[in-house]
Amino acid sequence: MDDCIFCKIIAGEIPCKKIYEDDRTLAFHDITPQAPVHFLVIPKKHIKNVMEMEKADSGLLGELLFRAQELAAEQGCGEKGARFVVNCKSDGGQTVDHLHIHVLGGRFMHWPPG
Ligand code: AMP
Ligand code: ZN
Repeated sequence: MDDCIFCKIIAGEIPCKKIYEDDRTLAFHDITPQAPVHFLVIPKKHIKNVMEMEKADSGLLGELLFRAQELAAEQGCGEKGARFVVNCKSDGGQTVDHLHIHVLGGRFMHWPPG
């Protein structure tokens, strides 16, 4: 997608603090961290969000979650845990229309979110 900031990061047109990459996924630190650990795991395929994904993409979503789990442990959240967040559309607080899993950790996460 031409106007998608995350597609531009995938293409290398916008820099990011990369923590993992393979042929289907990319993970990088959030530019506005909300916790000591805050990174995003995204598919290289442009999928808008989980409410608009196709059934054929469900395996890819599973891969993303598994990668998020591995990276959370690598980033020091293995023992105390982390929060995995997927915001969808406007009421869900989504601001970038390219599916991403937020992983937040390194401090206690309050519930419910504001
Ligand atoms: P959401 O509000 O769930 O759509 O999350 C989008 C996230 O992307 C926010 O936490 C932003 O801080 C983050 N973000 C936006 N632009 C960049 C960027 N260029 N590099 C890293 N993270 C970004
Ligand atoms: Zn995109």
